Amino acid sequence: LRWSAALDDGRVAIYLDGNLNGYYELIKNPCASCSYPLLSNGSCQRQFVHSPFLTKVCTIGLYYDYQEKTDYLSKHINNLKKYIDKREPLGAAMVELIRRRDKEFLNCDCVVPVPQEATEFHVDVDSKKEFNQVDELASIVSKGLNIPMIDALVKLKPHKQKSKNFSQRGSETKNLYRCREHGAKNKTVMLLDDITTSGYTLNRCSEELHKAGAKGVMAFVCGINHYERENSQSLAMK
Ligand SMILES: [Zn+2]
Repeated sequence: LRWSAALDDGRVAIYLDGNLNGYYELIKNPCASCSYPLLSNGSCQRQFVHSPFLTKVCTIGLYYDYQEKTDYLSKHINNLKKYIDKREPLGAAMVELIRRRDKEFLNCDCVVPVPQEATEFHVDVDSKKEFNQVDELASIVSKGLNIPMIDALVKLKPHKQKSKNFSQRGSETKNLYRCREHGAKNKTVMLLDDITTSGYTLNRCSEELHKAGAKGVMAFVCGINHYERENSQSLAMK
């Protein structure tokens, strides 16, 4: 790999060919159930999306969806859909965090990527090759931790979450995913995705894995969407 990562006092230093290239800023006080930053009184403002099927959700940091925030982590997460090679720094950061901070993920029996439907794949700007950015990330994490990757889940039809509010996301992700026969029976699963916003995708996927007999599910994502602005109204509704 050309890229590597090292945990460094509240952030992950990212190196390209051995030279420092930038830092991913970690969340100081993440909620164990959803990874969103806890309020100063220690409570989580997203309790309504916490899932009984997910024992833990971890993330590298906050993902800023909107233009004025162009921090290093958000840039890499955005670029992951255009350049296959961005799987390397993001995947290396996940491996580093699991080895040094989120060690319970080392007990997982398999890495399961959140699936995409075939028409949702992206095209690499350089090689013009079609790819699924979550599969690419999962393969880096799988190799880095020596935990096998299984395509246990299937997405039954294309579906975009962007610009949808939380209640739409909740209803539209119902029956969107299914676990394959060879799935996750008796396994502790590391569910992997690039971005989480409402948490509904992770919740639906982990519920399917449980129905198929998984022993437990923990999720790791590159970034959790800092949605305060766009979703403050739907949060208030709940
Ligand atoms: Zn939470």
